Amino acid sequence: MSEQSADPRRAVPRTDRVLADERLVAAAGRLGRDLVHTAVRAAQEACRSGRIAPETVAAHALSLLPEAAASLRPVLNATGVVVHTNLGRAPLSRAALEAVAMAAGTTDVELDLQTGRRGRRGAGAMAALAAAVPDAGGVHAVNNGAAALALAVRALCGGSADSGHAGERTRPTVVISRGEMVEIGDGFRIPELLESVGAQLREVGTTNRVRAADYAAAIDDSVGFVLKVHPSNFQVTGFTAAASIGELAALPELAEHRVPVVADVGSGLLAPHPLLPEEPDAASALRAGAHLVTASGDKLLGGPQAGLLLGEARLVERLRRHPFARAVRVDKLTLAALEATLRGPTSPVRVMLDADLDGLHARAAAIAAALQAAGIPARATDSRAAVGGGGAPGVKLPSAAVEVPEHYAAPLRRGPRPVVGYVRAGRLFLDLRTVPAEHDGELIAAVEAVGAALGPEA
Ligand SMILES: *Cc1c(COP(=O)(O)O)cnc(C)c1O
Repeated sequence: MSEQSADPRRAVPRTDRVLADERLVAAAGRLGRDLVHTAVRAAQEACRSGRIAPETVAAHALSLLPEAAASLRPVLNATGVVVHTNLGRAPLSRAALEAVAMAAGTTDVELDLQTGRRGRRGAGAMAALAAAVPDAGGVHAVNNGAAALALAVRALCGGSADSGHAGERTRPTVVISRGEMVEIGDGFRIPELLESVGAQLREVGTTNRVRAADYAAAIDDSVGFVLKVHPSNFQVTGFTAAASIGELAALPELAEHRVPVVADVGSGLLAPHPLLPEEPDAASALRAGAHLVTASGDKLLGGPQAGLLLGEARLVERLRRHPFARAVRVDKLTLAALEATLRGPTSPVRVMLDADLDGLHARAAAIAAALQAAGIPARATDSRAAVGGGGAPGVKLPSAAVEVPEHYAAPLRRGPRPVVGYVRAGRLFLDLRTVPAEHDGELIAAVEAVGAALGPEA
């Protein structure tokens, strides 16, 4: 008998007793019962196999619980890539976060509280977008840049839904330059996207050269639109020629066949940015004569994932009323974040882009000094940041970094507050342009924790 009671398996506390621990009761309120149950079962298993003592089961279960009910974790982006696709592109501003939290409950997204009647969905966000781009006669937002292009194809190439004419002829053709047949990333190709929603591509020019006359020769009554895609993630140099939006918009063939020019500017710059002279922006594209502009919300605009559609009121309305628009409709959280990004304080992406180099160097020196004081072989150094998100491929942003040994990379990435930098020449660089200054303390703490775990030899 006494031997049996010494067996740890006999002493595993019962599930209901562990669950009654007030810390676990509180956790169940926050995370839900399922996650807590799973952690308790894992802790009981650890006890049964003798790895932990029976009286520590509740505490062990608590330590196994995730921070939140969702598995996504906050990561410090020290890569120097401002819009990092693998890290969720643009981080939202505090104002945008608060707007999202507010909209997450029941909200007046489609209700006019004055009249009590149905209102235009996301009217506030659309008004903010219209105010930000006065050159646009109409504005609309969908799920992302790809959805904006898909909607343009459905509405402009598939025959117009609002005409109601059974015999309405479709205009399936999209005219596009061979030099603008772009792969965005992770295998997604704009030409394949267009074809997948029914467009027939009519390619003009060559990889390196295309002229306005090439487009003119390709336009007839089967053309839904002429598409200009910004080749945002690569550069063609040398013997090149391209036709500007202005040249295309001025082609008499366009007016003759009533064909609009659609410009996919990609990055979501609404107006020119001095550091990014090659990056097209929505206002300039519209002024140059584009009838419709598409862009992403979570690249250089610094907002939530969204696809922006800006242009002639008549065209935008046609897209907005098309049945396919419902399939790419943005949710209320996006609308809230978009409006707050447009109306609120400078977005984090913009702050990173415009960060002052002396300030970055001063932060690097202070962080390196703090780490050295903790016995970590850290050094402040120069770095080169990039725009990222498939934007401004030629632009290198001078930056400052803290350099530590390369073998810090994996433990920093796997730590309780993951930090991702970049490795070069056997050293890990933590670029500060993409780390908001208010997170410097957390960055120091994370590196110190890794240094302590690695021991004095590190
Ligand atoms: C990023 C990009 C897209 C796709 O936009 P998403 O918002 O990622 O769907 C399309 N075209 C260009 C030129 C881009 O840069």
